[in-house]
Order: sequence, then C-alpha cells, then structure tokens
Amino acid sequence: MDGADMDRAGMDRAIVVGGGIAGLALSLALLRQGRQVLLCEQAAAFAPLRAGITLSPAIFA
Ligand SMILES: Cc1cc2nc3c(=O)[nH]c(=O)nc-3n(C[C@H](O)[C@H](O)[C@H](O)COP(=O)(O)OP(=O)(O)OC[C@H]3O[C@@H](n4cnc5c(N)ncnc54)[C@H](O)[C@@H]3O)c2cc1C
Repeated sequence: MDGADMDRAGMDRAIVVGGGIAGLALSLALLRQGRQVLLCEQAAAFAPLRAGITLSPAIFA
C-alpha cells in the first residue's frame, strides 16, 4: 500500500505506540508524508534507560 492508497483509504492519521527509536523513526516518516501522528509513550519523560544504539563510524562510510 503506497501513500496514495493510504490517502484514498482515509489513513491520513496514525497512532504510534512507543517512543523508542522504532516509534520515533516511524512517526518521522509518517510526518514527512504529511500525515498527522499521535505518538503515545508510557514513560513520563524521555530519559536514558541503560540501553543504547551504538553507531560505529563505518556506518557513515
Ligand atoms: C542494556 C541494553 C543495551 C543495548 N545496547 C545496544 C547497543 O549497544 N547497540 C544496539 O544497536 N542496540 C543495543 N540495544 C538494543 C536497543 O536498545 C534496542 O534494539 C532498541 O532500543 C529497540 O528499539 P525499539 O524502538 O524497538 O524499542 P524500545 O526502545 O524498547 O522502545 C519501546 C517504547 O515503547 C514504550 N511502550 C511500550 N509499551 C507501551 C504501551 N503500551 N504504551 C505506550 N508506550 C509503550 C516503551 O516505554 C518504550 O519507550 C541494547 C538494549 C539493552 C536493553
């Protein structure tokens, strides 16, 4: 289903559950398509959780 199909189906709004890297990336992609996004995160605030994504220099090559 591409963007035009989603427009025809009335899918111009999305609810994304979870504000981790996946939810944030999906929200950004949908916003860039011009869709309205409601991002729901259960945590009261964004803060480090002992987990992380390590990006080695090679990925930017
Ligand atoms: C200790 C540790 C070290 C790690 N180190 C590395 C590393 O060095 N390199 C690497 O690449 N990866 C690492 N990872 C893995 C990496 O952190 C995860 O793969 C990545 O964060 C997953 O992202 P995600 O968005 O899918 O999920 P998450 O980051 O888990 O985000 C999910 C979000 O959804 C929210 N949520 C869940 N349920 C609900 C609900 N019902 N309603 C609302 N919000 C909800 C949670 O609060 C959370 O914020 C590590 C993980 C851990 C635990």
